[in-house]
Amino acid sequence: MNPDKGLSPETIAITAGRPAVGPDSALNQPISLNSTFVAGGAIGYGRYGNETWLALEAAISALEGGRTLAYSSGMAAVTAVFSTLPVGAKVVASNQGYSGTMTLLNNYAAAKRLEVSFVSVANTSEVINELAGAALLWIESPTNPGLEVAELPALIKAAKESKITVAVDNTFATALTQQPLALGADIVMNSVTKYLAGHSDVVLGSLSAQDPAIFKTLEDARKFNGSIPGPFEAWLALRGIRTFPLRFQKSCENALEIAKRLSTHPLVRNVRYPGLPTDSQHEKAKSFMKSFGAIVSFEYVGDAASTDKVCESSKIITYATSLGGVETLWERRRRWPIESASVPETLIRLSLGCENVEDLWRDIDSALHAAK
Ligand SMILES: *Cc1c(COP(=O)(O)O)cnc(C)c1O
Repeated sequence: MNPDKGLSPETIAITAGRPAVGPDSALNQPISLNSTFVAGGAIGYGRYGNETWLALEAAISALEGGRTLAYSSGMAAVTAVFSTLPVGAKVVASNQGYSGTMTLLNNYAAAKRLEVSFVSVANTSEVINELAGAALLWIESPTNPGLEVAELPALIKAAKESKITVAVDNTFATALTQQPLALGADIVMNSVTKYLAGHSDVVLGSLSAQDPAIFKTLEDARKFNGSIPGPFEAWLALRGIRTFPLRFQKSCENALEIAKRLSTHPLVRNVRYPGLPTDSQHEKAKSFMKSFGAIVSFEYVGDAASTDKVCESSKIITYATSLGGVETLWERRRRWPIESASVPETLIRLSLGCENVEDLWRDIDSALHAAK
C-alpha cells in the first residue's frame, strides 16, 4: 500500500508498508523466511530482496521521502555510503559525532582509504570553506552526544552547488524533525535500532535516496556486500514504526521538561538540549527543525567515578548505552575508550523514553544526590 502524498507522518507510520488489501489478506506483512524464490520474479534470492524488508523499506521511504534500503545495522548503512567512494576521495565530516562513525572514518584515514577533513559542523562557514575538492559531505545533526546542530539548509545548498554528494545521519532528529532529502541531500541514513524500531530489541539501519542512480549503486552494493537485515528484525522494526510518532512526541516532551529542570539543578552544569531557549544551538535549530529531539546531555559536578555512580544510582533509568527506546537510558559516554576526548569525562547522555516525567525527575534528582 502506498499512502497518498500529503498525509501526516502519524498516519504514514501506521498505513505504510502494509500488504495489498483483499478478502482475508493479512493486515501485517508476514515474516518471510526464505533464502530463495521461484525463478521469474523480481526478488530471486534472499540476499537480493525479501518481502518483509520491502515492507519496512516502504514505511521508511514514506517517512523520509525517498527510496530506502535496510541494512543489518546502522553502521552497515554508514559503511555502505563510504564504500561507494573511490580510494583517496575527500570526505568532510563533523569532528564530533557518533563514536562508531568517528572510529570508522579515523580508520579509513589511517589506512589512506579516504582523506577525511574533520570540521566543527555547527560552524557553517568552517564547513563550507572545507568543501573544495570533497566527494562527500557527511553531516550528523544534532551530533551524538554533544548536541551541536548543523545548519542543514545552508550546508546542503552549498555542497550541492559544488556538486558534492551530501549524506545526513538523521538518527537523532528523525524524519519527524527534519527531512534532509527534501532539503536536497542525496542520502539519509538512520540507525533504525533507535527511534524507528524504538524498543531496544533490534539492531538495524537504513539508507534512503531520491536519485535513482544513487539508489541503484547502493542497492547493487548491498547485494554483493551482503550487509542485509534479517527478516525478523525487519518485522520488529516495522512494528515499532507504527507507534514511532507517538513515542517520539512523548519523548521530546519529556526531554524539554527534564532539560529545563536540569538547567537549574545545583549538581549539574552545561546542560545541552537544542530545545532550551538558552541553548547556543536553539535559534539555528528553530529555523528549520520541527522539534528538538529527545536526547539531553549534561555534566555532573563531580569526577568520572562519581558520574558513573550517578548513572548506577537510578531506579527507573538504566545505565546502558543506546537510545531511542521507550525506556529512558543514560550513560557516561567516556566509559567507552573510543569516545572522543573532546567529550567531557563527566558528560551524561540521557535518552528520554515515554515514562511519566515526574517519576523520571524524582529518579534523576535522587541519583544526582546519591553520588555526592
Ligand atoms: C547508534 C547510532 C549509529 C549506529 O547505529 P547501529 O544501529 O548501532 O549500528 C549511527 N549514528 C548515530 C547517530 C547513532 O546514534
